[in-house]
Amino acid sequence: MSPLHRKISTLLFVLLLTLTCNYFWVARRMWKRVTCVSKPDSDYNHIHFPDIPNMTLLESVLGLKQPGANGTAVVVDVKKLPKEEAEKFQRSIEEREYSSYTSSLIPLQRSLPDVRLQGCYTLYSDLNLPETSVIIIFYNEHWSVLLRTVHSIMDNTPPHLIKEVILVDDASTDEVLKEPLKEYVSRFRKVQIVRAESRQGLIRARMMGFEHSTAPVAVFMDAHCECFPGWLEPLVTRIAENDSIITTPMIHGVNPLNFGVTMTTNIRLQWVSFPELRFAWMNVPQREKLRRKRPTDPYRSPAMVGCVFAISRRWFRKLGQFDPGMEVWGAENTELSLKTWMCGGGLELVPCSNVGHMYRPNKYYDSNPPFFSRNIARIANVWMDGYNVFARNHDGALADVGDISDRLKLRRDLHCHSFEWYLANVNPESYIVGDGIYTGEVRNVGLGTFCIDDTYGSKRLVSPIALFTCHGQLGNQLWDYTELREIKNFMFCFQETTGPVAMAICDEGEMKQKWRYDPSADGHGPVVSASGLCLSVDTTQLILITETCNGNGLQLWRWRKRREPRTWKLKNSM
Ligand code: UDP
Ligand code: MN
Repeated sequence: MSPLHRKISTLLFVLLLTLTCNYFWVARRMWKRVTCVSKPDSDYNHIHFPDIPNMTLLESVLGLKQPGANGTAVVVDVKKLPKEEAEKFQRSIEEREYSSYTSSLIPLQRSLPDVRLQGCYTLYSDLNLPETSVIIIFYNEHWSVLLRTVHSIMDNTPPHLIKEVILVDDASTDEVLKEPLKEYVSRFRKVQIVRAESRQGLIRARMMGFEHSTAPVAVFMDAHCECFPGWLEPLVTRIAENDSIITTPMIHGVNPLNFGVTMTTNIRLQWVSFPELRFAWMNVPQREKLRRKRPTDPYRSPAMVGCVFAISRRWFRKLGQFDPGMEVWGAENTELSLKTWMCGGGLELVPCSNVGHMYRPNKYYDSNPPFFSRNIARIANVWMDGYNVFARNHDGALADVGDISDRLKLRRDLHCHSFEWYLANVNPESYIVGDGIYTGEVRNVGLGTFCIDDTYGSKRLVSPIALFTCHGQLGNQLWDYTELREIKNFMFCFQETTGPVAMAICDEGEMKQKWRYDPSADGHGPVVSASGLCLSVDTTQLILITETCNGNGLQLWRWRKRREPRTWKLKNSM
């Protein structure tokens, strides 16, 4: 064989070898895509995944077949696990308040069903929409949960709509989130990692991500989410129509123990609850049901949850982003909700967009840590005018509020509406305990020293309502008569029944919860039910009843305090 021939045949051999290898590599990847099954790279095993499940063992013990596919739950029966595996399972829950062990059993790329409402499909197109930067911040999120978030974005979004995905590492300590994560995401051209040198907390970490982003729309997303098909287009379409509107998707629950996706079928909005200024769920109010025309129309929501939302770059900048003086976690969603409404924009839940979020018991939630007290006090003193007194820590007694001068300047510069305007126009059904038109103790004129008393507290939903000696300490004896003509104490409202008056979960549309109270100049008067009966006392049992009105002292009531009713004009166009 001549040297030339030898060269040619070597070349041909190398070419053949490369092609064969590539063929197998492509075939393997295609197989993975088709079956949607991928296992964590075994190269990382002992170094980076100390608690990784023993897959071979588990496949036979648990009979896993396409675990988690289509959002199904993976129920790990701990009793069936060998001791070592059971311990890993328990440890993973203790460590993160979710079972990262179970998450590791589910492929990083899993499918979710297409749950779009009828009509959504044709309503939104991916043409002519602005590009988006998705900003995901994380602090020690489990590798598999974080990467499933990233994959779900990539797999469920038309590529031309995503300019970049920015992962902000808020100084995590987990080693696997350093080099290995960088190496893993290098497969995605559009994913970048930004690292904070020291822990910033979620508010400033998100702003760091925003500073690195460049697209006209930003989506902020928690690091434990999964996107459904067609999630982004509806969020961005609304912003393309009006870039002062913040949009949020329908948020479905990803179970922290079995990773099953639970669909939220009953659409609820959010409002700001006092005194913690957290979001609370509310049923869609009647006024909003009347305003919307089609099931696919967005809902105007007074507030938002905060785990996923989209906002235009222009509007986020104009609103002064988040408050950089807020620490660690919480209340940033409330601040943004108030700002967007009060300063000329809006906030909408777009029912055609669907995203899963893993809710888990949040260690910050019930404990009101100092940083949370600080955050809410900042909101109270910047945005709530005289209503600030209803917020916890408004006077800084529980935690330092810090300097709020630049936030006050921002509010002045933007010529924002008052908090009263927000209550009247955006959230007329909002309820601040102690802020009824009439509020405080309610004294029975006939009995003199007896007040209405919620003796049973919230333990009983429907119960007779008692009278008790007035003690002046509010709590059980604090009743608000509201603009919606309800008489309520926290979540419960007076409800007329055929027997004694009951306490029931407040429902704006329930006529049996409507009462008329127009006291005379000397400060007392009858409380009249929707059926025209008067609130009175059964003196043998000392409980509230309704009876034919007769002007008797037992039918006259005196509230402690009165304020001017708020009047609202519902805006119908935006
Ligand atoms: N986070 C962060 N730094 C913190 C606290 C939270 O980066 O100091 C991240 C966290 O990893 C998550 C997001 O902020 O991606 C929201 O936090 P979390 O999910 O705990 O809040 P929740 O949804 O429970 O209200
Ligand atoms: Mn979250």
